[in-house]
Amino acid sequence: MVAAPTRAETGGGVQTFGNYIAGEWRPAATGETLENRSPSNRDDLVGLFAASGPDDVRAAVDAAAEAFETWGKGSPIARANILHKAANILEGRIEQIGRELAREEGKTLKEGIGETTRSVQILRYYAGEAQQPTGEHYPSVNPLTLLYTVHEPLGVCAVITPWNFPIAIPAWKIAPALAFGNTVVFKPASQTPLCAVRLVEALAEAGLPPGVLNLVTGRAGSVGDPLVNDERVVAISFTGSNEVGASLRKLAGERGAKIQLELGGKNPAIVLADADMDHALMHVVNGAMMSTGQKCTATSRAIVDRRVAGEFTEMLSKKITALRVGDPLDPETQIGPLIDEAAAERVAGEVQQAKDQGVSLLAGGERLRDGGRKNGAFVAPALFAEVDPSSRMGQEELFGPVLGVIPVDGLDEALAVANKVRYGLSASLFTRDLSTALLFAQGIQAGIVHVNSETAGAEPQVPFGGMKGSSSYSREQGKAAREFYTQMKTVYIDLPPAEQPSPGGRGSLA
Ligand code: NAP
Repeated sequence: MVAAPTRAETGGGVQTFGNYIAGEWRPAATGETLENRSPSNRDDLVGLFAASGPDDVRAAVDAAAEAFETWGKGSPIARANILHKAANILEGRIEQIGRELAREEGKTLKEGIGETTRSVQILRYYAGEAQQPTGEHYPSVNPLTLLYTVHEPLGVCAVITPWNFPIAIPAWKIAPALAFGNTVVFKPASQTPLCAVRLVEALAEAGLPPGVLNLVTGRAGSVGDPLVNDERVVAISFTGSNEVGASLRKLAGERGAKIQLELGGKNPAIVLADADMDHALMHVVNGAMMSTGQKCTATSRAIVDRRVAGEFTEMLSKKITALRVGDPLDPETQIGPLIDEAAAERVAGEVQQAKDQGVSLLAGGERLRDGGRKNGAFVAPALFAEVDPSSRMGQEELFGPVLGVIPVDGLDEALAVANKVRYGLSASLFTRDLSTALLFAQGIQAGIVHVNSETAGAEPQVPFGGMKGSSSYSREQGKAAREFYTQMKTVYIDLPPAEQPSPGGRGSLA
């Protein structure tokens, strides 16, 4: 029987949420909590969450290691049933969680509901994947040898996630980890622990045995650090910044842990002269500005054929200026706040700096503090024209509602500019010409390629991940998730000598 979450009411009706360790909700060992405030209104206290430390992490890894002994050997069909049940539970709460997501993270209500719906789909998809074949059968030099491979679980996996998709990213890491027989210690971003609690609640209520999934909330230094350094954690799945990813890559290399990194992007949308301009406009603006530009797959460079660059830039400027920025829970709002005050100040500062250096700012970039926006992390969506591809604006991920237009002469130059960055996550092309589309798909250095749609779309049944500095050559989602969350065993079963008709001819090269 799973205990109810710790929700001690404090003054003002604010809820307190604990960690989920060994099948029970409990406060941090120190009893301390962290405040979680809404980015649209700092006076809105979303909740108090366990401010955990090394003792909580140790307890979570203890529980996960113990649970692995039975979960890893258990039936994949039983795991599938739990994931199906969790999907149904989450589905019944889509409206509530979508609303909480918008309040906690700042994306619009529509996007919050969309992301929660996607998480339901992900749980269902991996319930199905758990029932797929676990290996392959091969012919052998000895016709009587039974020779096959089997994918086995790894053990205790650390799942470390960012705030920008606070329920979908945890779902697409945790669901395959569990489906393939691993146990998990989950450390969500400090800014979005409520969505993490909601996902874990659904899985716990669906009947996960104690210790199979453990949630530990708190700061990177006091939770993330001891987690990734625990020798019993054999695999780390991380999505976040390149800086943290680089340090985790080094650490995992040193202690031999398996690691998967999904990092930043500087995603281009190329608009050629033959494109449908209205269609391209809608997708470039959505790709750049939805979720306040805080998607790893957001469009931050519009690389536009010079013949239409003037006209298209003008269209962009009008559309971006007209975007309604405000309370994400207001159905009229198109763009919410950034994740916090520091992010809003950083992005507004980047815009100012580029402007000071002479880059042509056509729209936005300023902090919005009027009326209902006075206590939130709001920045007006910004558009720069004539961006130098080698400048900071042309090279660095700003992770906010900022788009730069780079004029080019045709596809070859567009591809050269698009590829000349350290990232390679996603890319779009807008054209009516099929041969151009094929050349683009071949020539672009990106893990996710779109033609005539925005850079930010991704479906859960196909692999997701980037090239170059955007990833670690690994992929998440779809069938690719099995590769990360399992290890392969090759099994030769021969008959005992008395029943062996002829000696096998297998060599011994290894
Ligand atoms: P972040 O600062 O790197 O944090 C990501 C997660 O790592 C958080 O849970 C954070 O905890 C934790 N963490 C930080 N330092 C750690 C350490 N030393 N050891 C263990 N854990 C540590 O990234 P973010 O600001 O949340 O996310 C934005 C970045 O994520 C952007 O660059 C974006 O492009 C990228 N992203 C990539 C993808 C993709 O699939 N490629 C998807 C979404 C986002 P705290 O929250 O407590 O600091």
